[in-house]
Amino acid sequence: MNLRIPGPTPCPDYVLDAMNRDMINHRGPEFQDMLHRCTDRLKEVFKTESDVLILTGSGTGAMEAAVVNVLSPGDQVLCVSIGVFGDRLAQIAEAFGASVTKLTATWGTPADPEAIRSALAENPDIKAVLVTHNETSTGVTNDMAAISSVVKGAGKLLVVDAISSLSSLPFYTDEWGCDVVMSGSQKGYMVPPGLAFISVSDEAWKAFEEAKMPRFYWDFGRAKSYLNRGQTPWTPAVSVFYGLDAALERMLDEGMDAIFERHARIAQKTRDGVKELGLSLFADESCASNTVTAVNVPEGVQLGALMRQLQADHDVVLAGGQGALDGKIMRVGHLGYITDEDITQVLSALSTVLPQVGFQPVTSPARGA
Ligand SMILES: *Cc1c(COP(=O)(O)O)cnc(C)c1O
Repeated sequence: MNLRIPGPTPCPDYVLDAMNRDMINHRGPEFQDMLHRCTDRLKEVFKTESDVLILTGSGTGAMEAAVVNVLSPGDQVLCVSIGVFGDRLAQIAEAFGASVTKLTATWGTPADPEAIRSALAENPDIKAVLVTHNETSTGVTNDMAAISSVVKGAGKLLVVDAISSLSSLPFYTDEWGCDVVMSGSQKGYMVPPGLAFISVSDEAWKAFEEAKMPRFYWDFGRAKSYLNRGQTPWTPAVSVFYGLDAALERMLDEGMDAIFERHARIAQKTRDGVKELGLSLFADESCASNTVTAVNVPEGVQLGALMRQLQADHDVVLAGGQGALDGKIMRVGHLGYITDEDITQVLSALSTVLPQVGFQPVTSPARGA
């Protein structure tokens, strides 16, 4: 199957083979070696010297962990949302009692760093800025370098959801001064769901000391003290660790820059191919994500019928839209274990199926007519 959704993503055989192993003692020496090896390699992927914690849970677990470990009820936070996942981060902060100011952008467009600057100037009590790097629901990547320079310039804590970008798109945790950064195994890491990764800067540790939101399973302090002993506080997803261990080794062999280049090239191929089919992109190319491409569902086409036929006849699985974009866009995931051939196959399947489900390319009216 050509599973082209933005997570979970396909896993290479060497990851699946690595996972086909019996359990080990998660408080024994073998696990300890594996935990330290994975943590060290993740620091290279995150480009950070700070702590990286490996949590057992999905990405949303890491989002909750980020919030509850650095904030207290009543803290003022600025949530910068450009889609479903930005909204989720704001919901989590609200659920735990933060006082949330929300800065939203029209879906399909990125966050405006100047709007963040103004929002921070308007409310000097804001303690932290929560932002999504790559908004998976709209296929838009925010300009993190620009955003971080505004946020860190104002001396605020910077909390970043990089779940669908880190490992696939250039991300520089330390250089950008990001205090808490989340990522997840089932996105660009070529590993099944089950592990989430989170970096914690010195400034975030200071915030942790004062943070009073309730927490237990996600407590950074427990995770760090167990990590020092080569363990996790709770039983980890051992099998997913086997897969992660194998995947990180290959990723660093390929090289992060080569990985970024592969994702950029394949994303461009996707966007070009989709446009050649007569379809239009949901997001402007200047901010379009290199891990997921959002495509407008053309007039007269039922997305359900299109996706069913792509899968039934061509074994190609795409994602639909989320929230307000349900039925309006389809999304092609191209992150992690992705090759040019995967996209060639998607485009060829689309060119066959689209006319079968009523697609008629709109011929642009003659210029000057
Ligand atoms: C997938 C994703 C999440 C949530 O991850 P789950 O593993 O589904 O909990 C959060 N943020 C972004 C940007 C994502 O792409």
